[in-house]
Amino acid sequence: MRIAFVGLGNMGGPMAANLAKAGHHVSAYDMSKAAIERVVGSGAHAAASATAAAADAEVVVTMLPAGQHVREIYLAGEGLLKTVKPGTLCIDSSTIDVTTARDVYAAAKAARVDFLDAPVSGGVGGAAAGTLTFMVGGDTPAFDRAKPILEKMGKNIFHAGGAGNGQAAKICNNMLLAISMIGTCEAFVLAEKLGLDHETLFKISSTASGQCWSLTSYCPVPGPVPASPANRGYQPGFTAAMMLKDLKLAQAAAQTAGAATPLGAQATALYSMFDAAGAGARDFSGIIQLLRGQPQA
Ligand code: NAD
Repeated sequence: MRIAFVGLGNMGGPMAANLAKAGHHVSAYDMSKAAIERVVGSGAHAAASATAAAADAEVVVTMLPAGQHVREIYLAGEGLLKTVKPGTLCIDSSTIDVTTARDVYAAAKAARVDFLDAPVSGGVGGAAAGTLTFMVGGDTPAFDRAKPILEKMGKNIFHAGGAGNGQAAKICNNMLLAISMIGTCEAFVLAEKLGLDHETLFKISSTASGQCWSLTSYCPVPGPVPASPANRGYQPGFTAAMMLKDLKLAQAAAQTAGAATPLGAQATALYSMFDAAGAGARDFSGIIQLLRGQPQA
């Protein structure tokens, strides 16, 4: 299959490489020449622009930083929706706001182009290993077309419903994760003050009603879960800056939709403080340091 891939950064680069390794003809473009060269080394073909990459593609995949880049690439004067043939399948895997995802879907429909929002979780490790989780919003026939392609880059592929629902699923999940991580950290900090050791709290809570993924798979203190970032000085993993980005998207969506998310708002404030203290590049579970009053320790 002829696939155009636009946005070859930390995530897009290895995702495009996996499509090329699976035998697809991948036409790759990024504003960064170095990023293009990296994927050419994995079997992709360099394109001179996004429109050149997409000109005769059956499928277009985009992996860009934020909503404004997605609008620019698809909707601007010479944007992809003016370039691609009717019937082309466009998959945007960037994490962006729900409103932009729905606007681009509507413009694509008017151009008789299939558009899916398909954000991912699993991070750079998952992108390289081809084990990402895709949360997909859009029409069922388009999802059915996309699934075999997404399976070359990911392990779990979920259809979350209509346009924008992939982004909705991603920000709801990550807001829940941030809140549960902060709660888990608070429990350990209180236990420290009360003289209850980490292992004992872990043993009890991991089999009691406080059990959650932040505790049992990604424990924010060293020891109980040897693979968690706490055991390697909070090297990411998933950075606090990325978590803050997703929390801000969740807050914007909550305001637009009129949903009350007071703990999401509090989590956003705490990750903003952690980021402002210079810890944005650390793993998000490192927020336990902020709760101890030592964000940089
Ligand atoms: P990145 O900054 O490493 O890559 C983005 C790439 O897009 C860059 O190479 C940049 O040059 C390119 N780009 C920007 N504007 C462009 C344009 N107009 N035309 C062509 N190329 C353009 O970011 P990333 O870490 O790869 O993340 C990409 C997306 O995936 C983001 O939306 C992010 O929120 C999401 N995401 C990232 C992670 C992660 O762990 N890094 C995890 C899940 C989701």
